[in-house]
Amino acid sequence: MDVFKFGGASVKDAGGVKNVEKILRMHADKKLIVVVSAMGKTTNALERLCEAFFYKKEDALSILNEIRIFHLQILSDLFEDPNDSVFEDFHNTFVELEWALDGNPAYSYDQEYDQIVSLGEILATKIIAAYLNKSGLPAQWRDVRDFIRTDDNFREGKVDWELTSQNIKESLLPFFQKEDGKIVVLQGFLGVTSENFTTTLGREGSDYTASIMAYCSDAESVTIWKDVPGVLNADPKWFDETKLIEMLSYQDAIELSYYGATVIHPKTIKPLQNKNIPLYVKSFLMPSEPGTVISNAQSTLPVPCFIFKVNQVLISISPKDFSFIVEENMSRIFKLFAEHGVKINTMLNSAISFSLCVDNSERQIPVLIKALQEEYRVLYNDSLELITIRYYDQPTIDRVCLGKKVFLEVKSRYTVQIVVKDL
Ligand code: ASP
Ligand code: MG
Repeated sequence: MDVFKFGGASVKDAGGVKNVEKILRMHADKKLIVVVSAMGKTTNALERLCEAFFYKKEDALSILNEIRIFHLQILSDLFEDPNDSVFEDFHNTFVELEWALDGNPAYSYDQEYDQIVSLGEILATKIIAAYLNKSGLPAQWRDVRDFIRTDDNFREGKVDWELTSQNIKESLLPFFQKEDGKIVVLQGFLGVTSENFTTTLGREGSDYTASIMAYCSDAESVTIWKDVPGVLNADPKWFDETKLIEMLSYQDAIELSYYGATVIHPKTIKPLQNKNIPLYVKSFLMPSEPGTVISNAQSTLPVPCFIFKVNQVLISISPKDFSFIVEENMSRIFKLFAEHGVKINTMLNSAISFSLCVDNSERQIPVLIKALQEEYRVLYNDSLELITIRYYDQPTIDRVCLGKKVFLEVKSRYTVQIVVKDL
């Protein structure tokens, strides 16, 4: 059995859904777990809906209506018969949420968020499963919350691997033992707590779902279908010339996604590496092309890989009494960063100051800086870029730094991180 994952971009309209069907048909010989994310930008719209509901900012029901219309359009493009039962099922899916939105928030923001935002994946999978069945590809819709159990850390649910494995083995795998048990369609991104509340696994978490499903069912492979030809050595958004990396080791894939390459969700690789399950990254537009395979092959990358992060802040911290930055200061500083939920992208320590580069979140950074200032002298620069190059050489560094002022450069054997600002 294999796992396929289709992200929001691959199912952003009826044409996308038809394309998914075409790809699945190309793999009709396989037994497949098909993991699907919310269609197009639905998750963003649902986030807006959640804010509107929680903070009474906008009219939540009118945002919900936009979401309904977007999906209804796709549905009408796929199903000509207005009496098809899919429409009724579709409308029923909204009832519970409408009912909830009518009242007041009963739980924390994060908990409400997960209950609301999960609608995107539920709708996407219902539409796709119905379409596959109509097209003569029998597919079973399943609720992934019957399988993936998490703790109650809403918006970043931590997977209970033991229970999840057990659920999958008991309630999912028997389906594939049947001769006609071919395709199961389920939601990415979602999990469930022991109290039966929906959780999510963090934004863009559907890749991780594919990985969890593969790990727990001992799948033969995972394929993530993307709108790029595979893993590229740089984001085409920033670079005109990019190269496809045909083979990548798990280690390199982990490093690249850790440093911010958005092609694969960072948590995806480790479970696959642990069971030696290959991960293919392929184009849903050119599904016959080989794309990238990520495996335990020990190839080093043939070309330098670039990762750009914009909107960075460099925070430099020194003790108020001009003493040295020593271990106690460091652990205190790390604790403050962790308490404010600020992830450190790179850092450098010197005798009298400690510099850390982070994403500029308007919500967290000012509060963090204030907290740091109570104990330390703090300087900061914003509007910076962080450039990470894996498998760098000096000419490459010189090239990317051209016309930029360098604030910080941290080198390890294979990776350099440079914090810069345009001159
Ligand atoms: N729909 C979710 C998101 O947009 C999960 C995913 O796409 O992977 O974050
Ligand atoms: Mg998405």
